[in-house]
Amino acid sequence: MEQPLLIEQGIVYQGGYYGDASGTTGDLRRQVLDEVEVRELLIDHVGHRCCWGSRPARTWKIHAIEDCNVYVGTLETFTEERDTVVEKELYSGGSVEGKDKGPETGIWELDLRSEFPVLFVPYKESRLRIPHSETIEKCSGCDGQGNTVCPTCNADQDPGFYKEGQMTQCTTCYGRGLIAHKDGSDTICLHCKGNGKLPCATCESRGLIKCQTCQGVGSLLTWKVAVVRWRTRSTRKVNATSGAASVPDDVFHRAKGVQLCNNQAYQCTPAYFADSYFLNKFSSEVIAERPSIPTTARMICERHTISVVPVTRVTMTDRNRSFSFYIIGNDREVYMKDYYPSRFCWGLCPCLEWLKL
Ligand SMILES: [Zn+2]
Ligand SMILES: [Zn+2]
Ligand SMILES: [Zn+2]
Repeated sequence: MEQPLLIEQGIVYQGGYYGDASGTTGDLRRQVLDEVEVRELLIDHVGHRCCWGSRPARTWKIHAIEDCNVYVGTLETFTEERDTVVEKELYSGGSVEGKDKGPETGIWELDLRSEFPVLFVPYKESRLRIPHSETIEKCSGCDGQGNTVCPTCNADQDPGFYKEGQMTQCTTCYGRGLIAHKDGSDTICLHCKGNGKLPCATCESRGLIKCQTCQGVGSLLTWKVAVVRWRTRSTRKVNATSGAASVPDDVFHRAKGVQLCNNQAYQCTPAYFADSYFLNKFSSEVIAERPSIPTTARMICERHTISVVPVTRVTMTDRNRSFSFYIIGNDREVYMKDYYPSRFCWGLCPCLEWLKL
């Protein structure tokens, strides 16, 4: 049955908000930062570290401010998977909702509209008993007999055979039935009541015990349960220019950028940007990384986005020394990989950064 889904065919957002990857065009997405702002952002960042000196941030020369914007592409594939599992319980009589009461509903024919989650939820699972799937089954533990052969006194029998009345020798009197005393007299062994033998403690020497699987009933009621799992599989790809290549990808995933496209379709195709060969190629690469979908699943819909995250690389110098840092995203987060020239942390303050030195 077709689910009435809210599927839009791919709509390409043509906002005119992109350019080529060199970062020389597209004024809107360009992070325009002047030297005063750059310095303020760095001083603020340094001020949050208790033992970083602010002198380099305040006094070193800003040598270069470079744009090295980063593109982040995502593809979310939302699927529905359906499987069946068989559940069982003891059958204690009563009517059975089997095939004679109506046809068993096929797993993909079940109407699950009331269970359907919001599109692109990470994961949801529902279970539903399949109508007319009940059957009575002979217990496999005892082949429908309700009993199994006693494992204690009939351990070495061929399958299906057993002996009744198997006894073991009494361990108190060693089979005599009598206990000998020092004065030469004998008394009857109380443990075996003088028999010298004891019945099997497991089955009382019946040779059979009640089947654990069916509790002696011999039959089980079984039915099928549909297990339905909705999930979103996500692919992410980052395209950083060489200037920003040393920044770990997760910094860009956290950062806020500007969306250049956000397409939703049954199955997304690469987005089309009339004036950017680079973005068309990048979009194709993201789509090509679509995860494979198991055969028990079907695709419901996909969403494809491409964003540009503004990244500015700043290099500061003082005579022959230098360091650089990045200003990333719409929120202008400062990212400095490791080196800052003025750190005074030698274990005398509570920040514990000296452990990493
Ligand atoms: Zn036994
Ligand atoms: Zn005894
Ligand atoms: Zn059984």
